[in-house]
Amino acid sequence: MLDIGQGDALFIRTPRGNQILIDGGPGRAVLGKLNTVMPFYDRSIDLLILSHPHADHLGGLVEVLKRYHIGAVLDSGTETDSGLFVEWKRELADRRVRHITARRSMRLALDEQLFFDVLLPSRDVTHAGIHDGMLVGLLRYGNTEIFFSGDMEQNLERYLLALGDVPDIDVLKVGHHGSRTSSSEALLAIARPEYALISAGLGNTYGHPHEETLARFREYDVTVFRTDMQGTAVARSDGEKVTVRPQRCILLFCW
Ligand SMILES: [Zn+2]
Ligand SMILES: [Zn+2]
Repeated sequence: MLDIGQGDALFIRTPRGNQILIDGGPGRAVLGKLNTVMPFYDRSIDLLILSHPHADHLGGLVEVLKRYHIGAVLDSGTETDSGLFVEWKRELADRRVRHITARRSMRLALDEQLFFDVLLPSRDVTHAGIHDGMLVGLLRYGNTEIFFSGDMEQNLERYLLALGDVPDIDVLKVGHHGSRTSSSEALLAIARPEYALISAGLGNTYGHPHEETLARFREYDVTVFRTDMQGTAVARSDGEKVTVRPQRCILLFCW
């Protein structure tokens, strides 16, 4: 979980070195952060995943698209008329990037034993509300699961839980920056995460993460990592269990 301020940017490196970026945060902050997790000479990313086209998730992806060779883009297909989204679509078309529209039950093999399973959307969400058209997915490696919820809110959590296949997970990328409108008790009771990753900007005007949400995590004994407090966090899975710790850097070298 890259510390890009108020927004989301999640970088995944697979055992064989495939690289995936889920959301890019706002503006250009992600560019500097990518240099802490990728070698400077590496100018390609295998897959970009856009959870939804709000600027705090999409802004950085547009910048990445302009500077890196991108293997493919996966998104939910939700459209909006913002200038940023128009720019994104134009850049995708100009660069002829392979585009995949995510749909429930779709499984992307990212590496051996490593999959990204699309949980939502379950239908055409081209004209859905931006948070209702959320791309929600599960990264599975061996027996471990990391849940990527984007800015999913409680109405969508209820819908997903009703579909009935949310497993016991290891890590929850917390919905909507720790807003009280996400991470319902019902979701935590089913998903039972060990760790919660919250991406929120220091002193953000929304008050994210909200105290009620943090209280729910305490109640369920979930260890919380916050970008506004601990900066970039590194989750590592060996296929059996996941460990999470803050990223450490000395000068330009980070691990
Ligand atoms: Zn957001
Ligand atoms: Zn949003």
